[in-house]
Amino acid sequence: MIKAQRGTKDILADEIYSWQFILENAKKVFQNANYKEIKTPIFEATELFARGVGDSTDIVNKEMYTFSIGGVDKNETSITLRPENTAGVVRAYIEHNMNRLSPPSKFWYFGPMFRYERPQAGRQRQFHQIGTEVFGVKDASCDAEVILTAVEFLKSIGLDELEVELNTLGCPKCKNEYRAQIKEVLKPYLDKLCDDCKMRYEKNPLRILDCKNEDCQKIFEIKEVSEVILKDYICDECKNHFDELIKYLDELNIKYKRNKLLVRGLDYYNRTVFEIKSEALGSQSAVCGGGRYDGLVEMLGGTPTPAIGFAMGVERLYALINKINPEKINYFIVSNDTISALKLAQKLRRNNKSADFDLQNRKFAKQLEKASKVANFAIILGEDEIKGNYYSLKNLANGEQIKIYDFSKLL
Ligand code: ATP
Ligand code: MG
Repeated sequence: MIKAQRGTKDILADEIYSWQFILENAKKVFQNANYKEIKTPIFEATELFARGVGDSTDIVNKEMYTFSIGGVDKNETSITLRPENTAGVVRAYIEHNMNRLSPPSKFWYFGPMFRYERPQAGRQRQFHQIGTEVFGVKDASCDAEVILTAVEFLKSIGLDELEVELNTLGCPKCKNEYRAQIKEVLKPYLDKLCDDCKMRYEKNPLRILDCKNEDCQKIFEIKEVSEVILKDYICDECKNHFDELIKYLDELNIKYKRNKLLVRGLDYYNRTVFEIKSEALGSQSAVCGGGRYDGLVEMLGGTPTPAIGFAMGVERLYALINKINPEKINYFIVSNDTISALKLAQKLRRNNKSADFDLQNRKFAKQLEKASKVANFAIILGEDEIKGNYYSLKNLANGEQIKIYDFSKLL
């Protein structure tokens, strides 16, 4: 028997209503905030992620599903299944000259992402993200609006007690100085850092602070190291940006916790970064990660454009919400006259009433049994009804049955 691949999962009838509930709310909340949905391809040139996510990240180093399709595509392009969607949306933004639109340009998306990771609770190889990207505004009000939208969406699906963690990484100017100091203070401990951090030390030293390895964390706790890590290094401009954001969040009554060690995996973030977490999820606790990436559009070949966005893991949202039971359909047609049943079902469905029928010509008792499981009402169409030109409508909640002569009464 061929089974689903490790780290992938079928989403069956018992889960699908909850998924639809999540998606319907996303659509409602994002569209109410004037975000437009965007759908970009599931695979892109490998180079897009190498440059756009960054070659010091776990995603690019270890987790990409990359194919060489020389046999199919004569250009021998290396392609990769998208591990995240910011790079793809930025590519589309540049490719379609969307910088000509009056800012901000606000997008939301939903879709599968692919990362070659060790499957475990809350971690799959094909998983789904809902996210947003906003282009064109560098003001802190934009950061506030993006965080507000994330929080409002989570509220809409019943998750209003999640923890928002917030940090600022500063700009290339102040970040570089801090980076140099981090490298300096960690130099004597380089041998003791984990292998990943040894690599990060050269490529992206700030990411070391995000390391979950216990030995690395012990090093961060050493007094002289922690003094440097926790030092306020951001420049006045970046500090003003962060203070403004906090003022907005306070006004909006959005609670947050400052986490100076929050760096986030991706290379391109600057200034605001945030995560939304739930203790209930255990070690895979982040449902949402986001941040500002003012340099990325230019880095990928567009005109300089400030931008900010977030991505949420839908499987982790699913794990947290109260599950939604399937709704019953309006009518189940009980009949042995297939043509009449088909015609009635067609007429009801065209009038936006959900209707189904047996398809197997079973005894009425069997059909009624099925009806009471799936529908609110049974419409009985037996010989008497067809001869007499009426429907017997049975309320399956209380068993009451009445005759209906006028189809419009069913609508
Ligand atoms: P983590 O630290 O959990 O690996 P990340 O920093 O790699 O997260 P992001 O790239 O920020 O994750 O993705 C945003 C969100 O997507 C995460 O907060 C999480 O909810 C979800 N996510 C990321 N990787 C996976 C995965 N392999 N399986 C399921 N959900 C995931
Ligand atoms: Mg990860």
